Amino acid sequence: MPEDTNNNNNNDNDKDYEDVCFICRRPESKAGKMIHIPNNICICNDCMQKTFNSMGNINITGPFQGMPYMDMFSGGVGNMQENVPKRQKLKKKKAGTEKKKVPEGVFDIKHLPAPHVIKGKLDEYVVGQEHAKKIMSVAVYNHYKRVLTDNMEQDDIEIEKSNMLMTGPTGCGKTYLVKTLARILQVPLAITDATSLTEAGYIGDDVESVVSKLLAAADNDVEKAEHGIIFIDEIDKIAKKRNTNSRDVSGESVQQGLLKLLEGSDVEVPVGAGSKNAMVPLTTVNTRNILFICGGAFPNLEKIIKKRLTKQSSIGFNAELKDRFDKDEDLLQKVTTEDLREFGMIPEFLGRLPVVFALQAMTEDMLVAILTQPKNAILKQYKKLLALDEVDLVFDDEAVKSIAKKAIERKTGARALRAVIEEFMLDIMYEIPKDDLIGRVTITESYINNCGAPKIEMRESGEGKILTQRELPDNASM
Ligand code: ADP
Repeated sequence: MPEDTNNNNNNDNDKDYEDVCFICRRPESKAGKMIHIPNNICICNDCMQKTFNSMGNINITGPFQGMPYMDMFSGGVGNMQENVPKRQKLKKKKAGTEKKKVPEGVFDIKHLPAPHVIKGKLDEYVVGQEHAKKIMSVAVYNHYKRVLTDNMEQDDIEIEKSNMLMTGPTGCGKTYLVKTLARILQVPLAITDATSLTEAGYIGDDVESVVSKLLAAADNDVEKAEHGIIFIDEIDKIAKKRNTNSRDVSGESVQQGLLKLLEGSDVEVPVGAGSKNAMVPLTTVNTRNILFICGGAFPNLEKIIKKRLTKQSSIGFNAELKDRFDKDEDLLQKVTTEDLREFGMIPEFLGRLPVVFALQAMTEDMLVAILTQPKNAILKQYKKLLALDEVDLVFDDEAVKSIAKKAIERKTGARALRAVIEEFMLDIMYEIPKDDLIGRVTITESYINNCGAPKIEMRESGEGKILTQRELPDNASM
């Protein structure tokens, strides 16, 4: 009962009650130590400061005019630092912590999960993509080993950074993999889109804004941010533009700009804002230990790979047929930096992304697995929703396959699944809660294909009664 405290004369003997700020009404536990002023009024530091700051701008009037304790705080009037919103404040460095020490709770060499453990965790959420998961687990493990040894005794061997570049069609799980990885490792993650980046000075975000995002994701804790992950999506969109006479401010120049970040350098970033301006404080973040993962769909990369492979195999006695690679489904897996250079990525950029790998395009079987297997699979989510209405939702095996087939037609990978499901689940989610007697709903293949109804079983009869399409409400399309 915080309100009572004001009437209670803030008696110290009443220890069970907190003081509450007279202005913002926050209790002491939230607002910090209160300043007690006559008439048993408590004011939190923030409100007191705000009052003084605003008095710094206008002539002193209002409730505190002429109060004797004013002098006490006169030093704080106009103190801009206190006026800075929290999101623009930096987390204090722990006392006695040396700059290079890895923050607690992130890693120490003993608790660094081994690659197979990382992959095992990824398996719980990400379906398929075995090769990519394996490469990533090893690269991440090596990266954090490097980070940790960086803080230990130095010898002459310096482990290089294992920044990654992954290719794969849209909706195959690039972002999802990185997000899951960051969650497993409990490190901050910033996701940005390369298309929004431009060369410094042009309209758009400059490359350093990606570090600013990471800092925000790490709650403005510079040390934490320095061990985080930055995922730059749509990296193929900053490929060098061919046949252009104008300055390529969003392509090659962005690649150039990213070079120093990928390599590791001190970057001055604004705190709590996307861009530098006079009003926001700046801080320095070192990107040396930040893991950069770039991802992109790289359309038409197959053609480049095919061209290279055909060229190789058409020379000498082992010359093979030209169309040998036409039906090779794993062509993208054969990607090399040479192909990416041909695509338009500059060699210096590729040189700083030593781990290159491709994700597979979604197949029907993978989509079926995504629907049913992961911990938070979509179908499990719907089941849970209806279970709350005490209705058992069942999906026929054939129905699940049909959903996958429909999603493949949309050509947006796993992203299409949700859209396909939403279409037919709408009626179910709307109609089923109307009737308390419904005990089980089975989604059938014909229902997915718009030529039949779902199987509805009633709770009453032991065996369950199956309704025909006509028995369902008119307004339902099921
Ligand atoms: P993109 O490759 O275009 O970055 P996303 O990672 O954003 O694709 O994938 C979109 C959604 O599809 C994810 O949020 C996730 O739910 C689902 N998804 C994609 N791939 C997988 C996968 N391999 N396993 C489980 N879910 C996946």
